[in-house]
Amino acid sequence: MPTPAEAIPTSLRTIPRDQHSISRKDISPNALRVLYRLRDAGFQAYLVGGAVRDLLVGGHPKDFDVATDATPEQVKQQFRNCRLIGRRFRLAHVVFGREIIEVATFRANSDDGSGDRELHEGGRLLRDNVFGTIEDDAVRRDFTANALYYAIEDFSVRDYVGGYDDVQARVLKLIGDPEERYREDPVRMLRAIRLAAKLDFSIDAATAAPIPLLAPLLAQAAPARLFEECLKLFLSGHAAAGFEGLERHGLLPALFPESAAALAANRSGALRRMLLQGLRATDQRVANDEPVSPAFLFAVLLWPAYCRALIALQSQGVHAAEAQRRAADRVTLHQASTIALPRRFSLPMQEIWLLQSRFSQRKRVPRLLSHPQFRAAYDFLVLRLSASEEHGEDVAFWRDAQVGAVEPIAEDEFAVDGDGAPRKRRRRRRRSPSAG
Ligand code: ATP
Ligand code: MG
Repeated sequence: MPTPAEAIPTSLRTIPRDQHSISRKDISPNALRVLYRLRDAGFQAYLVGGAVRDLLVGGHPKDFDVATDATPEQVKQQFRNCRLIGRRFRLAHVVFGREIIEVATFRANSDDGSGDRELHEGGRLLRDNVFGTIEDDAVRRDFTANALYYAIEDFSVRDYVGGYDDVQARVLKLIGDPEERYREDPVRMLRAIRLAAKLDFSIDAATAAPIPLLAPLLAQAAPARLFEECLKLFLSGHAAAGFEGLERHGLLPALFPESAAALAANRSGALRRMLLQGLRATDQRVANDEPVSPAFLFAVLLWPAYCRALIALQSQGVHAAEAQRRAADRVTLHQASTIALPRRFSLPMQEIWLLQSRFSQRKRVPRLLSHPQFRAAYDFLVLRLSASEEHGEDVAFWRDAQVGAVEPIAEDEFAVDGDGAPRKRRRRRRRSPSAG
């Protein structure tokens, strides 16, 4: 039985302005506007959640959430630029151009914090529109570090569950009984890994302990929500650390069952090397403010699964081109039961895979160069070089092809590469030392 939120003890500790590091100049002016307006109207108003946590560790929050004792209707009355969203639990969005300040009324029931997108059944949470006190609001949150309130009335930080010390110690600790909190909302396991990677926090032993055991519950979460969480996990600049966290805590098989199986079976470790290299490259692009694409990301994450499916089909005698198509479709379909990857991403992901064998064929060069996914597929080929030196010649060929004339090669049968992927075997070509 889930612990009722009110059973979790709270005691207020107030950290005054001169004893913490949050300064108003680091808070979005629009968030400050909302906080002041609510206070001036006689309501309590706090900055809350990830923003307070991030500010305390010197980070730059990407969004600023506000908690208040005003009801959504009362919030709406204060702002012309305000709309109410959500059906079961209403939230106010105060809109300033591209910045939205989310204002939530203190709420009593524990929930998954994911807005109003879904309802759970079978022992898990049903959302309810129950307002509560600030203490109720604190204990329904996931980690102690996420349950700190910055009060606009005196610029103090209010801590009800020990989060302030945990942030100072850089540790993520679930509020309440960890196993129960994960059962209520399995996505919290993923949030633990993501936030630890993002903040470089450790995960408290009691918070980490149930994860490997409860990992299979993650597969029951809504696939659309898991897709969103994956984007946050892998496209926020901490993908490599996040992936290693998933591995360490046994979450990989729950999230990417077929890739996890393929990685476990790949004794040379080449597939894992390539995958991590792809994630590091993604992190580098985020750090450089360059665009990153979910299609390329998932092409990297599911490549082990694709290679494995392809080898299985080819060993059944399916012809290469047909096997590639079927492997790509099969992997996409199977993965969709866990993570809802929209078609606008899964189609280019498949193209990135299918173009790989055309790179080793080196035919129809101009046509391939003008393929919409050429650049992504070429980058992917370069990435494969980190797993197997065999692609060096293809990389050189297509690099040259982008700037000048090259000679196409003749057709031949397919072989399996050092990284487990199929490629054209060129006649009487020396096997490179990395193959095997
Ligand atoms: P990020 O920096 O990635 O935005 P965040 O902690 O702000 O991290 P959000 O998803 O924006 O994450 O959630 C805002 C706040 O809502 C959290 O800080 C936490 O207090 C609460 N919350 C979010 N998800 C959950 C959940 N699954 N269970 C309980 N509380 C949650
Ligand atoms: Mg946030």
